[in-house]
Parts: sequence; structure tokens; C-alpha cells
Amino acid sequence: MVKITSFTTRDVRFPTSLDKTGSDAMNAAGDYSAAYCILHTDSEHAGHGMTFTIGRGNEIVCAAIAQLAPLVIDKELDDLAADWGKTWRYLVSDSQLRWIGPEKGVIHLALGAVVNALWDLWAKTLGKPVWRIVAEMTPEEFVRCIDFRYITDALTPEEAIALLKEVEPGKQERIKEAEQSKAVPAYTTSAGWLGYSEEKLKALLEESVKLGYKHFKLKVGGGVESDRRRLKIAREAIGYDKGNILMVDANQVWSVPEAIEYMQQLAEFKPWFIEEPTSPDDILGHAAIKKALANTPYGPIGVATGEMCQNRVIFKQLLQAGALTVLQADACRVGGVNEVLAILLLARKFGVPIVPHSGGVGLPEYTQHLSTIDYVVVSGKKSVLEYVDHLHEHFKHPASVKDGYYVTPMEPGYSVEMKAQSMDEFSFPGEEGKSWWKTEAAKPILEGPRI
Ligand SMILES: [Mg+2]
Repeated sequence: MVKITSFTTRDVRFPTSLDKTGSDAMNAAGDYSAAYCILHTDSEHAGHGMTFTIGRGNEIVCAAIAQLAPLVIDKELDDLAADWGKTWRYLVSDSQLRWIGPEKGVIHLALGAVVNALWDLWAKTLGKPVWRIVAEMTPEEFVRCIDFRYITDALTPEEAIALLKEVEPGKQERIKEAEQSKAVPAYTTSAGWLGYSEEKLKALLEESVKLGYKHFKLKVGGGVESDRRRLKIAREAIGYDKGNILMVDANQVWSVPEAIEYMQQLAEFKPWFIEEPTSPDDILGHAAIKKALANTPYGPIGVATGEMCQNRVIFKQLLQAGALTVLQADACRVGGVNEVLAILLLARKFGVPIVPHSGGVGLPEYTQHLSTIDYVVVSGKKSVLEYVDHLHEHFKHPASVKDGYYVTPMEPGYSVEMKAQSMDEFSFPGEEGKSWWKTEAAKPILEGPRI
């Protein structure tokens, strides 16, 4: 038996705003950050979970983690893992904390860190990666991980079990493919940040083509003329007819009519989808954009969203409204593994492929497990997964891509355990003599204008 005895939160920030890594039409200069939760136990194991943010406000998520984590202190891990759906319901049911959600915003970002730390701990004690634990569950065990409140109008537990049973034949073969790192094809965003120059964009795209990538995503929304120039450069680098797929991402900058009009002007570059065309809360707006772009003179442009969708209820409605071509759940913004499993099942029911959001520190480490679970257990179909080649060196078991596929994680846990030295070096506000944030180099960020 393993008992959780205490917790630590850490505010860890990487100064990515200095070189505009991660820049897009809405987020000009983010500092990729992790609001960290470590669950200590009376055993040799500790559970590591984090939520991704882009800098300021990370301390607010840490404060919320410190409110939620005491709910699991002095609990036996086996008791918490015996009925995950019940445990998850317990963690969202502190009525006073629920008031500042419910199940959305800062309190839900914090829940994601705590729940994911529990899964990491559980996986470490079982000596398996998270994806394999789920792959070895029966359909009934899988469904017991989920709190079905608020989604039974779209999917009942009985239906979910039937859906999982349908794809059980072939599961062992898919596990073998996962073991050979052929389960999750990767795509890259590393070339397409909005703050990169056109020369840098071209060079990075050509390099990505050589590395075997087939999917490429560019940020848009900074102005039609410059976007047309950048997309032309991109299409020249990846071709129109070589099987390479282009995707574009507006990070919520448009109103619904603006999104439709703007994308009609980019249609000739044949993007597969426009990601986050408008507010993530606008379910009917996404449906309207998808309908309007279904028949451009150059073919359909799909609609994708999810990285800022707050919970399974919004995803349910997006799916019910026929608003999505692709669903991009985030591993932290929703309340951790259990809610992601619910969302994977909803997507399966509505026949929409999952492409989890991975553009952030620690996200590829998480999502490689989630996409593997989707392929092996839930959909039985390969999708693609975003890979950004930044900051992996700070993790003990970093995500990596080989021959265009994610290398399936085999180490026990949920892969987001950060190196202790990295945590100290990038702690915010940090200790004098230890943290980068106390050095002269940090002053342009700390004293510069807020954008
Ligand atoms: Mg995005």
C-alpha cells in the first residue's frame, strides 16, 4: 500500500518570449511555464503532474493546486485508484472550490495537475507507462474511470462499453505497433510561429520535409497579405501535390464573420482545417464557420478547436452541433486523464478524429500517452499529433519523434517528471544565485512591457 503524505507545488517558467517561440496572433510573447504538483508518499515513489501556462498567472494556478492537493493527502493510492470515476467526482465536489469553476478556468487547470500527478504515481507504482495501464483495462474498467454526469444525453456508460468492445479485435496488434513506435504519427508546428521571419519559416519547413514530416501547421491571423505570403512560402516548400498537409491556426483572433471571410481568402492554399478561428466558448459560431467553409472553390476547409475548451460539456456540445472536423483536447486544461478519456469516447461516438493540443512545455510528454490510448483502445484509427521541438531537455523521459512517429514511452509514469536541476534553474520568482529569473538576462522580460 502506498499512502500520499504531502505535496509540493513549483512555479517553473522558461523564457521563450525572448526568441518568440510559441508566438501567434493572440499570444505575442509567451513564457512556456509549468504549474507543478508533486505528490510525496511513504514509498520510494512520487507523483509528478503539471499544468501548462504561458507565464504570468502561473502562480495563481500553483495557489489553486495548493487548495486541491490536500484532498488526497493521507489517502491510500489503491483506494483512490479502485474507482477512478468516484475519485474524480470527489475531487471536483469541494463546494467552495467548485464555486470558482465549476470545472473550468484556474481551478480546473489545477485539478489537471493534481489528477495527472495521481496517474503518474499510480503508473510508477505499477511499473508501467500510463498508456499501457489503460490499454490493459477491460472496457468496463475503462468506463469506470469516467464521471458521466453531464454527458449521458450524448453517451451513456453502456454505449461507451459497446463502442470499446467494437474495436477490441485488433487491440493486441495495435499494442504491438505502439511498442514499435508506429502508433502516433507526428506533425510539426516548430516552423510556423508567427514571430519567425519568412527566411526562418522557409528554412525550418524545408528541414521538416527532410525529416519526414507530412503535416505542417502555420499560425495565421496577423494580416491577410502577410498570411498569403507565408502560406505561399509554405506551399512552395511542402508542395501542393506531394501528399503534404497544411493546417492553419488563428488562436481565437476573429469574430465568426471575420473568420469566414478571412479563411475564404486563404482557401487557395488548401488548408485541412482552421484551428481556433474564434472564441473557444462559441459552440454555434464554430458550427457556422464549418458550414460556411464546407464548399470553397478550392474544396472544404475544416474546423478544429479544443486547446482552450474548458471541459467535456463544451466538447459534447461542439460535437452535437457538428462544429468540429478535428478535436484538440488539452491534457491539462480539462481535469486530467479521466476527463480526457471521456472526451476520447465522445469523439469516437461522433466520428471525429482526436489531435490533442501539444504546443507547450510538457504537453507532448502527456499527449503521446493520450494519442496512443486513442489509437489502441478507443478509435482504433491512427490520427496525428503535434510535436514542438522545444524544452524537452528538461524532462527525465522526454518525448521524441523518429521517422515521423512519436517514440512510444515505455518508462513507468506519465512522462512529465522534470529534472530537479531544471526546476531550480527556472523557478519563478526563484532564488538568488540559483534561478535564471534573478539574473540580468531576465530583466527585459520582468521590466519590459506586458503584451
Ligand atoms: Mg493552437
